[in-house]
Amino acid sequence: MTELELRELRKTFSARGRPAVDAVRGIDLILRSGELLGLLGPSGCGKSTTLRMIAGLEKVTGGDILVGGSSVTARPAQQRNIGVAFENYALYPPLTVAENLAFGLKARSRADRGDVDRKVREIAARVDLTTLLDARPAGLSSGQKQRVSLARALIREPDVLLLDEPLSHLDAAQRDTTRRELKRIQRDLGHTTILVTHDQEEALSLADRIAVMKDGVIQQLGTPYEIYDSPANVFVADFVGEPAINLLPGTTEADAHARLSPAARVALPLPVPEGRDVVVGIRPEDLTLTGEDGLPARVVAHEPLLESGIATLTLDGVEKPLVVLTDPEVRLAHDDRVHVTADPHLTHVFDAETGDSLR
Ligand code: ADP
Ligand code: MG
Repeated sequence: MTELELRELRKTFSARGRPAVDAVRGIDLILRSGELLGLLGPSGCGKSTTLRMIAGLEKVTGGDILVGGSSVTARPAQQRNIGVAFENYALYPPLTVAENLAFGLKARSRADRGDVDRKVREIAARVDLTTLLDARPAGLSSGQKQRVSLARALIREPDVLLLDEPLSHLDAAQRDTTRRELKRIQRDLGHTTILVTHDQEEALSLADRIAVMKDGVIQQLGTPYEIYDSPANVFVADFVGEPAINLLPGTTEADAHARLSPAARVALPLPVPEGRDVVVGIRPEDLTLTGEDGLPARVVAHEPLLESGIATLTLDGVEKPLVVLTDPEVRLAHDDRVHVTADPHLTHVFDAETGDSLR
């Protein structure tokens, strides 16, 4: 199929009388043919702008976009074989769902009528729209519109598929099924795909690799495991994982330890020169409540949930609360004294000033 490459891609929005906005600040990325890349980051970090430049809907300020090894940067959108499904569906209101789906096809080739109908029915079946083919956009729920938008991108059999928050308007149950279906369709059809999302769970569950973005810059590119197991900096560590990782300021000491407070000292995964200001990161799922050993703490609250509980503690002498995932049978009350331990191999350590991982 088709490889997609971004070289030093940049976008600055400048309007008279307003300060320029550097929305995308030099992105380098190579997507392997058939790969699904999750572009993950908070609102406003430049995800949609990146997608719009690839689709040809936004002029680039600098850099190059290559599809299958050829630059498409100077080509208008219609001459890039790229399927897009954006958050705001952009369906034609007077047309039925079937006509909306057929529209993209008809506009591109004078495919014969029977062929168009067959393709429309095929793709509608894939995204569960068969019973809605005669409906008009106004009569659809936002989740249904989102599926039409997805189907319209897929029906063109594009070289590259760009999905901007494609599941954001679905309810939780629909999102689960559509997510699985989307993954299957993408695997089956082998589209090289970028899926934009601000939802880390969506990225983790769908993507072959994830690019985590902040302020127009890619912070880390890696498989979901790499991003979760070895976050490159505090931002990535904090953005990926639910409940969020505990990030505690400390100072390094001898024997690969960091001191968080007079009473709390944790082992680090690697030796760091003494006296360095660091941020220690420990995921809630990597902490264990223990009897006597470990860091002394006091229970603030405990939410018992079905699969595991969430305890909020304060370590003695540490201001920031600590979140710990507990076994389902654990019972804790406010003000209980507990001890908590962390496995140093699962502990992360970042430079306090730059936020970069010290690994
Ligand atoms: P995301 O999709 O990650 O939420 P966007 O790519 O939409 O982020 O926006 C990135 C930045 O560029 C934001 O600061 C946004 O306000 C700005 N921006 C986006 N589109 C325009 C535009 N047409 N004119 C000026 N600024 C824009
Ligand atoms: Mg966006």
